[in-house]
Amino acid sequence: MIRIAVANQKGGVGKTTTAINIGTALAASGSSVLIVDLDPQGNASTGLGIDRSARDRSSYDILVGTASAEEASIPTRVPKLELIPSTVDLSGAEIELVDIDRRAYRLDMSLSDVRHSRWDVVLIDCPPSLGLLTINAMTAASALLVPLQCEFFALEGLSQLLQTIERVRERFNAGLQILGVALTMYDRRNRLSEQVAQDVRACLGKLVFETVIPRNVRLSEAPSHGLPALIYDHRCSGSEAYIALARELIARLPQMEKVAA
Ligand code: ATP
Ligand code: MG
Repeated sequence: MIRIAVANQKGGVGKTTTAINIGTALAASGSSVLIVDLDPQGNASTGLGIDRSARDRSSYDILVGTASAEEASIPTRVPKLELIPSTVDLSGAEIELVDIDRRAYRLDMSLSDVRHSRWDVVLIDCPPSLGLLTINAMTAASALLVPLQCEFFALEGLSQLLQTIERVRERFNAGLQILGVALTMYDRRNRLSEQVAQDVRACLGKLVFETVIPRNVRLSEAPSHGLPALIYDHRCSGSEAYIALARELIARLPQMEKVAA
């Protein structure tokens, strides 16, 4: 079971869209996939069509220990893709967890209790902050997937993210790797997008995936239908890009496992 945290403390850079569509692509290619919605906003849960009334058990429960990950997981409309939804309870978790034993390891502990064969891949959709929820995700994960929006301030904040990764490595999870950085919302009509993409590649080199996710209205429409874009319109440019990104990501996984071993 490989655990991947989708993280960037910047808001609205495409974390949730990436988690949902990469999760769908991996499920379509035969893996059994779990998405953990670790954001109190619950966008991954809504985007996968899980109504608030259907969220009996949630990611909050698995953090505080009132449900196991297997108990809290529910099926989605996508075969082989399951979800641990988030509820508003999670917004209090940052504060409540402070008094809980081994507070940075709560998600790690919960996922470690899961039968090994239950899921092949766990994707953790992080909130836009570097608080205890994201720390839990980074402590539980073996790999990080970082979406970076092609906009002027893309690289700003990245050093803060890298510092946090370093701190998590030192204190909680020495094996944490960066699987890759995915450029999102690329607008080919906008010269700034191209410039930002070049700058990011110059700065981060091979960490950056070749595939670039274009700005595509179908990607933003899909969540309101409770469907991954890959199901809503599998032929739109955004879906095609996510399929290509998933391929690249799969190709990087064996290396990761070697590193982790
Ligand atoms: P938050 O930090 O609030 O959790 P996020 O990083 O998870 O945000 P998303 O929710 O995935 O970001 O995306 C932000 C908004 O942009 C959403 O409305 C989403 O539908 C839209 N969006 C994401 N990716 C694209 C894209 N490539 N093209 C067009 N719209 C996109
Ligand atoms: Mg999100």
